This record gives sequence, structure tokens and C-alpha cells, in this order.
Amino acid sequence: MTTTRAPVSSSCPPVPRRGVCLVISAPSGAGKSTIANALRASEPQLLHSVSVTTRQPRPGETDGVHYHFRTMERFTQMANAGELLEWATVFGRGYGTPRAPVEQALAQGRDMVFDIDWQGHRQIRAALPDDVVGLFVLPPSIEELERRLHGRGSDEKAEIERRMQAARDEISHWNEFDHVIVNADLDCAIAQARAILTAARLQRHRQFGLADLVASFGV
Ligand code: 5GP
Repeated sequence: MTTTRAPVSSSCPPVPRRGVCLVISAPSGAGKSTIANALRASEPQLLHSVSVTTRQPRPGETDGVHYHFRTMERFTQMANAGELLEWATVFGRGYGTPRAPVEQALAQGRDMVFDIDWQGHRQIRAALPDDVVGLFVLPPSIEELERRLHGRGSDEKAEIERRMQAARDEISHWNEFDHVIVNADLDCAIAQARAILTAARLQRHRQFGLADLVASFGV
């Protein structure tokens, strides 16, 4: 059990507590990565879980920053050796969360954001039931989702329909999450995500120091 002191927000005094694993899932086009990036930009202390993937890097993506890009052989080895906390196949590619950085972050009382799909959320919640807070981001309407999915790669009709079906599959798991944000306005969605993180940090079971404080009141 750790008694590391960690801030609840940047301007508050640190409290002894365990770290939060904030898992953000959403269909492509809902704004999940933008929200996760905004949280990290305003809190440099917030860690980002860098996943392992077997897909090729896209332009602008750096190995070790956006993903750890690995072969399927290496990915399978890591999964078999228990080095991945969770892993799943998404669009035929392997994606997984390295275990060691998560365990280290939690032990240090640091918070981590995960940008993973519903399968990852389900597994990581089962592995770390006291640490995971699940946030699902929904687009405001089907029309808006379709609009946002245009321009992501090809605009061919079959390709758009494939992305829409993938989005529906992801959305069908919305009710497995603790919190849901409808991203109609990005600034509001970011503020709401921040509020969820702050509330998670203050959950009673996470604050190890409370028992001593309360005892000091003679309770
Ligand atoms: P992309 O290839 O567009 O970066 O990601 C495709 C999907 O894989 C997204 O829904 C993303 O959240 C998900 N994903 C990324 N990393 C992981 C991971 O480590 N585990 C799981 N289960 N899904 C992931």
C-alpha cells in the first residue's frame, strides 16, 4: 500500500492516495484523443499509457511516444509472457497495454490516462477493479458522427460504412463505463473530463491518509 502524496488538482495541496487509471473509450470521431491530450496538456504530471501495436505508424507518429510499434511475433511474445495488462485485436491489428508502467504509476500514486477500446477497458477493470475509472465519450448525433468520420482516410462509401459499423460496435458497450460525456462542445467535454478525474482522485477508498486524519479527531 502506498502513501505517496499526489495533488488533486495543480493548485491543491497533495493528499496521500493511490493513483487513478482513467480509461477513456469512444468510437472513432467522438473526440477521445483530443480530450485525453487536453487533460495531459494542462497537467504535466498526468501519465499517458503508451500502448503496443502491430499496426504501421501513421505520418507524424513516433515509436515510444504515440505507440510502441512492434511485430506480431514480438506482440504475441509479450502477451504470452504476461507483459501486457490487457490486449485486444482491433481492425485485425494487435493492441495492448504494457503492464510495468501502470504498476509503477499506481505504486507512486500517479495518475494515468488510457486511450483504449471497450475490450481493453473491460480487461483492465477486471485486473485493477479499485483503480480504474471508465469514461465513455459519445458524439452528439449520428449525423455529426458521420460528418466527423468523413475525411479520416478514404471517403469511399464502403469505407465510411465500415467506420460507422465499427463506431456502432464500440458504442454498444457504452453502458459498461462509470461516466459518459456527450461531446457536443469540446471545451465543455474537456472540463467535464477534468471534473471526473478530480472526483476520482477524491474517492474515499483512494485516500489512504484519511484514517489517520479522522482518528486524530478522536473519532
Ligand atoms: P488507432 O489505430 O486508430 O490508433 O486505434 C484504434 C483503436 O485501438 C482505438 O479505438 C484505440 O482506442 C484502440 N487502442 C489503442 N491502444 C489500445 C490498447 O492498448 N488496448 C486496446 N484494447 N485498445 C487500444
